[in-house]
Formats: sequence, C-alpha cells, structure tokens
Amino acid sequence: MNTAASNPAAVSRPPLRPLDAALADLLAHAVPLSGAEMLSTFDADGRVLAQDLLTSLNVPAHDNSAMDGYAVRAADCMDAAAPLLVSQRIPAGISAGGLQPLAPNTAARIFTGAPIPPGADAVVMQEDCLASAPAEGGAASVRIQSAPKPGQWIRRRGEDVMAGHIVLKQGERLGPASLGLAASIGFGTLAVAPRVRVALFSTGDELVMPGDVAPQDMKPGAIYNSNRFFLRTLLQRLGCEVTDLGIVPDRLDATVAALQRASADHDLILTSGGVSVGEEDHIKPAVQALGKLDLWQISIKPGKPFAYGQVGAAHFIGLPGNPVSSFVTFLLLVRPFILRLQGMTDVAIHSIAAYAHFDWPKADKRREFLRVRQNAGGGLDLFDNQSSGVLTSAVWGSGLVDNPAGQAIAHGDLVQFIPFSELLA
Ligand code: AMP
Ligand code: MG
Repeated sequence: MNTAASNPAAVSRPPLRPLDAALADLLAHAVPLSGAEMLSTFDADGRVLAQDLLTSLNVPAHDNSAMDGYAVRAADCMDAAAPLLVSQRIPAGISAGGLQPLAPNTAARIFTGAPIPPGADAVVMQEDCLASAPAEGGAASVRIQSAPKPGQWIRRRGEDVMAGHIVLKQGERLGPASLGLAASIGFGTLAVAPRVRVALFSTGDELVMPGDVAPQDMKPGAIYNSNRFFLRTLLQRLGCEVTDLGIVPDRLDATVAALQRASADHDLILTSGGVSVGEEDHIKPAVQALGKLDLWQISIKPGKPFAYGQVGAAHFIGLPGNPVSSFVTFLLLVRPFILRLQGMTDVAIHSIAAYAHFDWPKADKRREFLRVRQNAGGGLDLFDNQSSGVLTSAVWGSGLVDNPAGQAIAHGDLVQFIPFSELLA
C-alpha cells in the first residue's frame, strides 16, 4: 500500500540533486527562440546577436599615428643634432591614397589618427621634438631629441579588426563595448534575438502589496511581497517582456486559472512560493493538472525546492518562496535558462578566486552560496546572518561565495567568488 496515500501527512520527498546536474537538465530544455528583430544599434544593449557580424573593412583602415608629432624614418634620427626638414603636414581625416612618400632626411608633421606616409616607419611625439620656424624662404625643420624605435607610435592597419573576419558572433550578448565595435565596422542596425515573454506571479495568502496596505495596518501574519519586485526587475534587466499577474492565492483552482492564463502567449511562466510539498503548496498539482512538472530538491543552500515543467507551449519554472532562495536560484538557474532561450551560447557563471576574511567553521552537506562583500583589503567579509529569509544579506553583499558541499572555511582560505556584477548585468 502507498504510504503517502494512506497517510496524508506523509509526503514523498524527491532526492536532492546537484546544482550542475539540475542546470544541465534545465538548459537541455532551453531551445533558443526562433526569429530575429532588427534594432538600431543604439537600442541593442543587453540583447543577444542573431547574426554573425562579418566585416569587409580593416580597422584602422590604414597605418596611422598614435600621437601628435612627426613621422620619420627611424634610421634618419640617429644623430640628434642633425635637423630634419619638415616636408609635409598630415592632419587626421586626410586620404592615405594622396600622400607623398616621405623623402629621406625629412619629417612629416603628423597628428593623431592621420595616415602614415609611405617610407616613414616611426612617429616621434611632439614633446620629444624641437621644432624650428622656417628660415626665410626655406622650410621648417625639426630636431628629434630621442632616437625612435622602428614602428614606434604607429597603429597598424587592421590591428583592431581585420577584413574578412567575424567580429561578433551570433549568440553573443551585446554591451556598450560590443555596440561600439559593431558601429566601428558600419552596423547601424543589428539583428537580435526576440525578447523572452515571461508571465510572473507570486503565490501566498500571506502576501500583501506595499502601497496597498500601510505598515501600521498590516494584519498579523501578513508580509509584503518582496519577491515580486526583485524578480520583475531581474527579468527586465535580462530584456524580457514581463506580464506581471500579481499575487495568486493558495488555492488549487486559482493556481490552475493563473497558469492557464499565463501559458497563452508566453515563453516562460515564473512563479515564487508554493513549490514545497505542504498542503498549502498548490504549484505541483496545478502544473501537473495542465502539463508536466519535475520537482527538484536542489542540493544548495539557500534555495532547495525548485520546479521545472511545461504548461502548453510555455516553460514553467517555480522558485522557492524564501526571498534569498528565490533570488539566488534565479541567478544560478533561471538567468542562464533565459539567456539560452535568447540564443546566448556561453551562459556559464564565472567565479574568481578570492581570500576569505572570515571563518565558516561548520561544513554543510549542501553546496552553499554565502553572501559576502569585497573589502578594501582585497578579501571577502561575510554577512553575519545567512538565513534564506534575510534579504539584507543580498543588499549588503557584493556577491556570493560558491562553497562546495562538506567544506568549512578558515580565515585566509582561497574561495570561489561570484560578483553580483557578473549576475545582475
Ligand atoms: P513557500 O515557498 O510558499 O512555502 O514560502 C516560503 C517562505 O517564503 C514563507 O515564509 C513565505 O511567507 C515567504 N514568501 C513566499 N513568497 C514570498 C514573497 N513573494 N515575498 C516575500 N516572502 C515570500
Ligand atoms: Mg507559500
């Protein structure tokens, strides 16, 4: 006889899953959305490229000067006492095709960005030159006061971008520097992956919206809905189109109705709370009534319960209700999932080694993500309350220590640090 059926209090607990296995499973479901959108390069920050950017240009187009100064033949400058005649003047923006070759024992007055004349093999910055005004009827001259090395202060043709190369690849996420690079090869518009359409709701009868009820009027047991605010913001930062369905009460019929509504016209349904297997947790039966669901107990702290499933054509992800669990599981699992839906190829989270300036003497059997802050001494300080309900830890912290299962930390140990700047961009 089935124990769970005969004893309603007994619920089957799914086994704990390692985070990496859960992430791999999740990403296997994240088929990139099809189609692309053409956007002005100005508007493409944070979006994922849907095309390779191939260029027929060299950047820079010609060898050019990195300094205001004089273009010379290095071999002509061995004798600092001998002046060189200034044979030409080359401002930036001039056509390289029309330049005269540099005659031996002469120098060309040149400015930053201007093309190097044929024959010149170095630029001397003007601070290292002594210019003389033209003698009557003659030309100006210049004394080079420090012998240049061949190639000095010349920016080579194609040293940034070479003609015939792919400069940015499909699947790369665009940021300020890559938008500048795309512009440098002439892209005023870019094909980007479509936005992920996400329906978001929070579950919990205890939840109240700030603004709806004043702090002094809060009923006993009521709490403000904080998850809704950071989840919506995190989704928006990833460029998602968010439909916020608000708070859904802890009832099966209400949860089913919300899921049904959310499954239409959305790529992903994201919920917080109600994914445990208590009597007030209706996510599991509701998703199962409409589609399918895997409920995972992920072996991380904070953030154990996590659900993945499908409702109609939409993906479903259920996050835990505890605010820090919800925040951390979003960053570690939902964020890479969404980036993959957008077609991003490299969604791995990169950590860096840093020194713990704290003790964490009690090893846990789960992998932990501790809220820490970088200090001015280059080390990490620990927030003193690591409870999954204490959202202050995520505000105080500048990132997470990824601490393997079963590992204690002593002051001075090297640990793996994931800055929030890596996760919140
Ligand atoms: P649950 O996963 O629904 O059992 O919720 C776990 C804990 O997180 C409970 O203490 C809830 O009150 C709290 N919680 C759930 N949803 C939210 C939310 N949207 N904002 C703040 N706390 C929440
Ligand atoms: Mg709940």
